[in-house]
Amino acid sequence: MKVFKFGGASVKDAEAVRNVARILKDYKEQKVLMIVSAMGKTTNALERVLNAYYYNNNEEKEALKELVDFHVNICIALFGKSNESTEEIKKDLEDIPRLIEEHRSKSYDFIYDQVVSLGEWASTKIVADFLDANDLPTHWIDAMECVKTDNVYRESTVNWQKTEKDLPQKILPLFETKNFVMTQGFTGASDEGFVTTLGREGSDYSAAIFSYCLNAESMTVWKDVPGILNADPRKFKNVSKLEKISYKEATEMTYYGANVIHPKTIKPLQNKNIPLHVKSFVKPEDAGTIISNLFEENYPPIVMIEPNQVLLKISTKDFSFVAEHHLSDLFACFAQHRIKVNMMRNTAISFTVCITTHRPERLLAMLDDIKNAFDVESTEDLELITIRYFNEEVLNKLKLGKIVLLEERLKNTVQMVVKNIAIPERI
Ligand code: ASP
Repeated sequence: MKVFKFGGASVKDAEAVRNVARILKDYKEQKVLMIVSAMGKTTNALERVLNAYYYNNNEEKEALKELVDFHVNICIALFGKSNESTEEIKKDLEDIPRLIEEHRSKSYDFIYDQVVSLGEWASTKIVADFLDANDLPTHWIDAMECVKTDNVYRESTVNWQKTEKDLPQKILPLFETKNFVMTQGFTGASDEGFVTTLGREGSDYSAAIFSYCLNAESMTVWKDVPGILNADPRKFKNVSKLEKISYKEATEMTYYGANVIHPKTIKPLQNKNIPLHVKSFVKPEDAGTIISNLFEENYPPIVMIEPNQVLLKISTKDFSFVAEHHLSDLFACFAQHRIKVNMMRNTAISFTVCITTHRPERLLAMLDDIKNAFDVESTEDLELITIRYFNEEVLNKLKLGKIVLLEERLKNTVQMVVKNIAIPERI
């Protein structure tokens, strides 16, 4: 069996859904499990709807109507009229304000998962209905029946023991009657029986969980790029596609901020030696990139740029050396607030760390915790640039128009924290 993951861009409108059906025609005789994301930018739209009603911001409440219309219009374009799923989707999306009120006493993260997961739920209903009605028989199944997690909403951890047991039991019988099975990415179920999400962009990881538990022969992520590129084409003129890379290299790349695939995706696949294909849904006949258990490695320079970085220079209040016990306290604090340290440097009286600020509330809480023991100087709006297999020419180009605040060189990798002083151009 193969596992296919279709992300938001591949199902962003009716035409995109038709394209998915076209791709699947070539696989009609094979068993394929499909993991599908919310359509287009639906997850962002759902976040806006949630915040509009949660914080009672009347100006933003329009977003709900837009979201309902977006889904209904896709249904009408695909089916010619509103069908049973359309009515169900409309009803459930319009029910969001009530859902928020019903759970108001619970945490924001809990409510987030109940609301935001509706994007995947709606998109799989639509796409599965469309395939089924177009000579591509497809079963739809709720991912909550398959992926079991802990109760940490918005960032849940998979309970592998339960998932490995439940998932095949739910999925395999479905393949006895139809060759295609579809479920939602990004979501699972907590012990308490509520929807959980695995973190933004988590559908790749979902596909890897299904691949692992079903011993899939391969997993394919269908994207709007020809494969994995050695740099972001929006920022660089001469990028090239990597034909094949090792699991190890892919793990390094995602760790350093390449956002081609979710960082947690590789490990489950590597553990069972399941190859991962990254292919274009625009040119499905092209080979794309294959990630597998390669040994020979001969890569061009690979560049990753992570925005939203902040550099914290932390020193003791009494100007004493930053000693091991200080570092131990600081790291306990980072771990407690789930702050990932991207780079660090220790000097006699200060300790400098570079961290990502996706969740500013975590940073503020952490700074509040350390403010009695440490002074902190922070520099914001920075980028972390990582270059694997660097050469001096690439490094020099990358430094143009930037101030380098921190740099580190290892055998294969250079990392630098930079401030842009000119508007970055495509180089
Ligand atoms: N829809 C979710 C998101 O946009 C998950 C995913 O697409 O991977 O983050």
